[in-house]
Amino acid sequence: MKIAIEELAGCSGCTIAVLDLHEMLLDLVAQADIVYSPVIMDVKEPPEGIDIAFVTGAIRNEENHERLKLLRKRAKKVVAFGTCACYGGVSGLSMLSSNDELFNYVYRETATADDDGVIPNDVPPFLYRAFAVGDITKIDYYITGCPPKEAFLRQIIPAIIAGDTLALSRKSVCAECDRKMGPVENWSLKRRHEGIPDREHCLLGQGYLCLGSVTFGRCGAACPKNNVPCTGCNGPSLDVLREPCRDIYNMMLRRISDLTDKPQKEVEKEFYDVAHTMYAFTIGSLIMEDKENSKIRDLVKERSG
Ligand code: SF4
Ligand code: SF4
Ligand code: SF4
Repeated sequence: MKIAIEELAGCSGCTIAVLDLHEMLLDLVAQADIVYSPVIMDVKEPPEGIDIAFVTGAIRNEENHERLKLLRKRAKKVVAFGTCACYGGVSGLSMLSSNDELFNYVYRETATADDDGVIPNDVPPFLYRAFAVGDITKIDYYITGCPPKEAFLRQIIPAIIAGDTLALSRKSVCAECDRKMGPVENWSLKRRHEGIPDREHCLLGQGYLCLGSVTFGRCGAACPKNNVPCTGCNGPSLDVLREPCRDIYNMMLRRISDLTDKPQKEVEKEFYDVAHTMYAFTIGSLIMEDKENSKIRDLVKERSG
């Protein structure tokens, strides 16, 4: 069994999540050779005859695109690994800026940029937008998460290598969260710094924008358990993903309106920075953009000019 782990437009956190399996890696390498992984080893090209390729990161430039096509040719099974690969992830947020703005920021304006301010001319050209890997090629399995959580990987990676099937939860984050709905009075949307939520009641009911109801679970509601609202890093819940008329924005609007008895138009006025609060992990996904109610098309047009 030969395994490859590819890095495309992402942060390498997904490969680090594999390394975080610690001693379980010894069991894995007893069953399979890792033949290609730019983070773990010094091999420049994926070899022929790969059995399973785990692809991390989105498709943002021509090099990402070429490497994905090469892997698809050389691997029997391709797994989209992590939310960048599955839905474009945070790389998709680059669609909110023009290429000039992005390159200026990265090479001139960040604190760590070289003083010479030179923008290199050998960077692979950007595609006109970000893509999830499934927007470009056939994918055999999807593993969401930014990065996928350790407990979940401990179940799924051995099963994929062994070719076994697994019965896994298909529920949303809310289904994994043990908070109770408290009294919903004088509801208004709060930014994260505007108070400390109580630890017992639903964060959304308290006014914090928690995306648990529209987000795929399998993280054990890690953030709400630590008093932090869910930002949707596992990608959309299955009902949002499957139903063309369901989108993150419109489902959150409906849920908050039902919860608070406020008309949707009133709730909508309280939303802020919709791109980063609702679509931070999915803006680069064609599946999410193509939904009839999606706000992604307008957000991208508005911000990138
Ligand atoms: S899904 Fe998250 S952890 Fe994985 S590459 Fe993308 S940003 Fe990094
Ligand atoms: S909205 Fe958030 S806090 Fe409320 S039940 Fe769902 S995951 Fe828990
Ligand atoms: S609670 Fe939400 S943001 Fe936190 S790990 Fe789970 S899916 Fe990601």
